[in-house]
Amino acid sequence: MTTIAFIGLGNMGGPMAGNLVKAGHTVRGADLSVASCDAAAKAGVAVSANAVEAVAGAEVVVTMLPAGKHVLGVWREIVPAAPTGALFIDSSTIDVASARAAHALAKEAGALSLDAPVSGGVGGAQGATLTFMVGGGVDAFTKGKPLLEAMGKKIVHCGDAGNGQAAKICNNMILGISMIGVCEAFALGEKLGLSHQALFDVASTSSGQCWSINTYCPVPGPVPTSPANNDYKPGFAADLMLKDLKLAQEAALASGSATPLGAEAAQLYALFAGAGNGGADFSGIIKFLRGA
Ligand code: NAD
Repeated sequence: MTTIAFIGLGNMGGPMAGNLVKAGHTVRGADLSVASCDAAAKAGVAVSANAVEAVAGAEVVVTMLPAGKHVLGVWREIVPAAPTGALFIDSSTIDVASARAAHALAKEAGALSLDAPVSGGVGGAQGATLTFMVGGGVDAFTKGKPLLEAMGKKIVHCGDAGNGQAAKICNNMILGISMIGVCEAFALGEKLGLSHQALFDVASTSSGQCWSINTYCPVPGPVPTSPANNDYKPGFAADLMLKDLKLAQEAALASGSATPLGAEAAQLYALFAGAGNGGADFSGIIKFLRGA
């Protein structure tokens, strides 16, 4: 059993911390939001007054926060406050540069650290079925893996510091681009008199197949569990897709990579979210593309 501090008990962090409790660990949590703290307390998390108090005596510290500036702000406070030898894991989705800066803070203090962003959304966080994409040294990965297994079902070591975040934004750039491509094809098929089911039956078993059509089809009918059948309620909100596409563009600029389709996808999701659809599922962009 491990004593774990969990900072950031929101939509994702709350249920993840609850799964660590279920696995038998002692979890001490902190969050700026009283509502998040109350919900986590109901799941068995011992709520502390603040992050610094939560990390006292912790063997492992997990952060699940909105963006890089929050992670670096919190890590600057908690890395010096945690016991020597603590392992730091950040599971937020943040920019690669901030992730590497967070690792550097831990390294300067002689601590092990991992960036371990997730995919699988709130459902995956609740059901402990998340996929973790992990960056950091082998020692840190070996120590952290059993805890990640209490919160997820697939744990992939992607390489050194920051590589978990790199894998996350590359994957989600593929997803954003592929969803737009699938939506365009369905909108074109409609104009050509092709039924949704016919296009699905062909494309989902032919060379057009991909997760965006086979599992998350953006029109109602062919895949009953996709958000299209539920008036595009998320699911995965367009605002979060836009966040990840922007992170991919920042990384492309910083590394000198050409990602013209990633740039176009970021622009389209910015227009879609800016038109008041940020809270809708990202597959709802089909409605926007029909009108374009
Ligand atoms: P959220 O807004 O529900 O939770 C973030 C929590 O962090 C909030 O409760 C907030 O009060 C807290 N917080 C902010 N600053 C803090 C500080 N200084 N100290 C303590 N607590 C602080 O967000 P979420 O949906 O849980 O997402 C968390 C991270 O996971 C984000 O980076 C997001 O991109 C990523 N993510 C989310 C999803 C999803 O489907 N929601 C999926 C994959 C990854």
